[in-house]
Amino acid sequence: MITDDILHNLKDRGHRLTKIRTAVISMLWLSDVPLSAFEIKASLEKDKIKANKTTIYREVSFLRTNGILHEIQFGDGKMRYKICPDDHHHHTICVRCSRVEAISMEKDLEKYERELVRLKRFKVLRHTLEFFGICSRCNA
Ligand SMILES: [Zn+2]
Ligand SMILES: [Zn+2]
Repeated sequence: MITDDILHNLKDRGHRLTKIRTAVISMLWLSDVPLSAFEIKASLEKDKIKANKTTIYREVSFLRTNGILHEIQFGDGKMRYKICPDDHHHHTICVRCSRVEAISMEKDLEKYERELVRLKRFKVLRHTLEFFGICSRCNA
């Protein structure tokens, strides 16, 4: 998926491609690491695009609802956002460089969920799972 695809997709679904919307999408697409609302605001200002906090939060929430952004939590209380593929997946989060990658391991997790039903009579409705560690680049 590239930025153009995301933009076309939104347009096809009847959404407006505002200056801020386009800028936020391309900024997050180009960023190596997830960005917080504050960082998004700062980056927009660098490009001379004015946006207040409310606008940024509204935009982020719009992009999340449309399945374009994922919320990533490093555990420091701040929300950060990353453009993700739209299938269900999990994240690896590097604690050194903050790089986040999407990984798919649904097959294995489905097996665990079936086990939970069998052993604990626990019906799983949803799950979240993130792996914190050190990425290959930082490990080199
Ligand atoms: Zn994701
Ligand atoms: Zn790293």
